[in-house]
Amino acid sequence: MNSERKSGADTPVIELRKVNKYFGTHHVLKDVSLSVRQGEVVVIIGPSGSGKSTLCRTINRLETISSGEILIEGQPMPAEGKELAQVRSRIGMVFQSFNLFLHRTILDNVTMAPMDVLHIKRKDAEEEALKLLRQVGIEDQARKVPAQLSGGQQQRAAIARALAMHPKAILFDEPTSALDPEMIQEVLDVMTSLAKSGMTMVIVTHEMNFARNVADRIIFMNDGAILEEGAPDEFFAHPKTERAREFLASFR
Ligand code: ADP
Ligand code: MG
Repeated sequence: MNSERKSGADTPVIELRKVNKYFGTHHVLKDVSLSVRQGEVVVIIGPSGSGKSTLCRTINRLETISSGEILIEGQPMPAEGKELAQVRSRIGMVFQSFNLFLHRTILDNVTMAPMDVLHIKRKDAEEEALKLLRQVGIEDQARKVPAQLSGGQQQRAAIARALAMHPKAILFDEPTSALDPEMIQEVLDVMTSLAKSGMTMVIVTHEMNFARNVADRIIFMNDGAILEEGAPDEFFAHPKTERAREFLASFR
């Protein structure tokens, strides 16, 4: 067992082993096993209520699990305290609702966690933040507060904030679902370039063209379980289950 826990080049960044999760008596994750390798882009799709958000949240221990194991770089997630905060801080999370601090500038939003958690000096944190804001195309918005930005710009700020922690991986839970249609592409473009740069990513999305283009692997969830898993071309051209066929047909 011990050798499996050793971190090395082949150790998945994220690994779930037979994870089960109940909300009361409601079984929302059913024996979910999944591993995400360094640099891999895994896209999770599936109907509403199938457990996609819960799955993302368990990876960061925003939700506890009922049974099974979750390993980050081969190590179990610490149960609590500083150790948990440290590991959690290195798995970035980008939500549908941006979750920016509304009364702080964009620059503050990006520098706060690196300063508080990684103890990076303000000057260095700001320099890095400006570089990241430039990377996502909103350097000129740095001194504004979130309400002064468009939804697409706010979501790009949230991505810069995640990147500022030098994450091992970033989880995206429907990052474009709250956006006006004309702002979706700018966020998908930033994510595509991140994927190309080698970032390890787990993405929940309903943007099927994007999923097909960016994913190394597609996971199809239904009713709390992984029903299908495979290369995007294979999955989209030849879904194996009736349920996946039905789901894909609803996007055409
Ligand atoms: P998805 O993201 O795929 O739409 P979710 O992970 O949000 O699905 O939800 C999976 C199931 O768990 C749903 O039936 C939902 O109602 C239920 N659920 C999610 N969060 C909670 C919660 N905090 N308490 C009780 N039930 C929840
Ligand atoms: Mg969800």
